[in-house]
Amino acid sequence: METGFDVIVIGLGAMGSATAYHAARRGMRVLGLDTYPRGHKNGSSHGTTRIIREAYFEAPQYVPLVQRAYALWRELEAESGRDLLTITGGLNIGTPASEFVGGARMSAQLHHLPYEELTHTEVAARFPGFRLPEGIVAVYEPNAGILDPEACVFAHLDLAARHGAAIRHNEAARHWSVDGDGVRVETEQAVYTARSLVITAGPWANDVLAGLGLPLRVQRIVNVHFAPTAPALFAPERCPVYLMQVPEGDYYGFPALPGEGVKIGRHEIGEVCTPETIRREVDPEEIAMLRDVLDRYLPGAAGDVLRTLTCMYTNTPDRHFILDRHPAHANVVYGCGFSGHGFKFASAIGEVMTDLALDGMTRHDIGFLSAARFAGVRP
Ligand SMILES: Cc1cc2nc3c(=O)[nH]c(=O)nc-3n(C[C@H](O)[C@H](O)[C@H](O)COP(=O)(O)OP(=O)(O)OC[C@H]3O[C@@H](n4cnc5c(N)ncnc54)[C@H](O)[C@@H]3O)c2cc1C
Repeated sequence: METGFDVIVIGLGAMGSATAYHAARRGMRVLGLDTYPRGHKNGSSHGTTRIIREAYFEAPQYVPLVQRAYALWRELEAESGRDLLTITGGLNIGTPASEFVGGARMSAQLHHLPYEELTHTEVAARFPGFRLPEGIVAVYEPNAGILDPEACVFAHLDLAARHGAAIRHNEAARHWSVDGDGVRVETEQAVYTARSLVITAGPWANDVLAGLGLPLRVQRIVNVHFAPTAPALFAPERCPVYLMQVPEGDYYGFPALPGEGVKIGRHEIGEVCTPETIRREVDPEEIAMLRDVLDRYLPGAAGDVLRTLTCMYTNTPDRHFILDRHPAHANVVYGCGFSGHGFKFASAIGEVMTDLALDGMTRHDIGFLSAARFAGVRP
């Protein structure tokens, strides 16, 4: 039995590593547990790129949180000495009334963010890799860019440890319970106690938070990296990150990075799975679908396949996150249901989870992310 921790964090992906860091930085005795080795690729935070953007089409309420995340990513870069965030600008592409374009425009206007609305010819003039048809426009936001997800997780973990956290990989939490004023977590190796528990278990949330009956659905997502046949068009100086809502579906993509080629993924569909059942091989048809979209809208981007990757989204019914306290135990807090767009927020989510676990409240406006909105919704 190991006692005397202030906070135990179950799950050390994007969200848990950030939480361990923030709690340790506040001088707390922190224990972080993860089932898998450091850098594993079984969850949702692996790979080399994640988009960060500010003119948030999903809902304008996210803007203050992402602005806090930007500031914290820069602080993390300074403290860790790692390069984590590269600004490339970003295009939200679709019809003028589409969710991607209309939502980004609304967030930008409400929060007075810099943006430009470009016609298809203006996009081609500024960013010659894109060939959009007439009637498709783009909201360009200069502050969008790319995070290096594994470097972000490592920076949080390393600094959490430097601030005194005990970080234990290859040690799964088998059972947790509330014990008097504290919590108790059992693993194969030991039993731990602490004042508070944070659960950031990604696609395993349905297991670790089983008692809550949250309406979470895990979805398999495929990304493909292609070597561009016209590399000059897709260099980061000339090609921003992009989200694209077109008749073929909702897609996101990245400029060509050294050794990475261009990466593209489809956002809105994917097989329902669990972390145990996810199919890791990628079909030729899945590659062909992504190649076709690039050939149509970014011709010259899709040459040879360099690499494929599978990953999981943990979706809520409205695709907004859940950040909350356990309804029966105020000292148990959790973050889940990041619905395929959580990574950019991780630095700020770590701060929010720490506030909730240690103070029972946070100054960040997260009311719209409470689990109460799903009361009565069946899992
Ligand atoms: C293909 C893909 C592309 C994406 N692109 C973007 C993007 O461009 N921008 C963006 O903002 N977001 C993006 N996302 C979403 C983002 O990556 C996720 O929202 C985020 O990584 C989720 O982090 P997490 O910490 O919740 O989950 P995870 O990274 O899965 O971490 C959960 C951890 O909990 C551990 N765990 C589970 N159960 C236990 C247990 N019982 N005991 C101990 N440990 C346990 C697991 O081992 C795992 O390490 C993308 C996601 C995918 C899949």
